[in-house]
Amino acid sequence: YRAKTEQLDYCFFDKDLTDHSLLRVRLGNDLRDALKQNQLFLQYQPLVDLHTGEWIGLEALARWQHPLEGNIPPGVFAPLAERTGLVVQLGEWVLRQVCTQGRLWLEAGLDVGFIAVNIAAPQLSRTGFVAQLRQILKETGFPARYLELEITESSLMNTDQESIDRLHEIRDMGVSLAIDDFGTGYSSLSYLKNLPIDKLKIDQSFVEGALTDHRDQAVIRAIFDMGTSLGFDVVTEGIETEEQEQAVLSLGCRMGQGFFFARPLDVETVASALGKAARPTEPSTQ
Ligand code: C2E
Ligand code: MG
Ligand code: MG
Ligand code: MG
Repeated sequence: YRAKTEQLDYCFFDKDLTDHSLLRVRLGNDLRDALKQNQLFLQYQPLVDLHTGEWIGLEALARWQHPLEGNIPPGVFAPLAERTGLVVQLGEWVLRQVCTQGRLWLEAGLDVGFIAVNIAAPQLSRTGFVAQLRQILKETGFPARYLELEITESSLMNTDQESIDRLHEIRDMGVSLAIDDFGTGYSSLSYLKNLPIDKLKIDQSFVEGALTDHRDQAVIRAIFDMGTSLGFDVVTEGIETEEQEQAVLSLGCRMGQGFFFARPLDVETVASALGKAARPTEPSTQ
């Protein structure tokens, strides 16, 4: 199912080509220019309250419109960026872009809830990351409480104490923190309880089996119960159908994200959707 939906957006990237090393080298070089030449842009996917259908926040997702190859998905260019060291620059660009956009939406009176940004491990490993984040928030005037950073469970598992210290500093600034792709990284409970975390995002692989496989259901339920007991919000990612939504709801989960609610959306689409929500049935003033 996943392959099918992605094919629509990224026809060029069948498996053989993404593995092709020559292409990878070329794209690695191109990525360097892509940042300067405005080939990168962001889409925003809503996170929803499963009970009310309301948007509670947005996740910013990076896209690369390559001049020759078309849309290149982040699953391809994010690892490339890590290998070529561009991931830090890319991450800084995404943060600044999101905070600038977020400030504009707030100024327009649009209730974004929060905006989540994916952070790669090498960003968090840098000594200057906290200062950079503080600077970007100050420059753009985007309030820290609207920002959330997502770090994958597997990169958290492999991180050093300095990075964990940085997470504490970031949270002290008022930024929230989420663990992404949770359930795939083998973190221990004792490790989790000492992390300054607000939210767990259950990996979408468990949702795929939530209807048929009792083991996937058990994992979702266990993560939900454990996360809630530790005081975290729990979100289920990758909900594609109403049946999956119902299954996830019946396991106790209240927050979700997935194509069933909305695909990642362009800035204009987000703004008009938020605008409608901001003025539901406004009576005429005169
Ligand atoms: P992620 O952070 O777990 O983001 C969720 C991914 O699942 C997104 O893919 C989103 O489009 C996709 N998705 C959402 N709902 C559904 C659904 O119902 N079904 C299916 N099959 N997929 C769904 P996307 O945009 O291709 O991003 C893939 C990964 O690339 C992200 O996973 C994230 O790890 C990484 N990424 C994206 N943007 C950035 C970025 O700005 N910085 C960094 N470091 N990584 C990024
Ligand atoms: Mg994410
Ligand atoms: Mg995820
Ligand atoms: Mg993922």
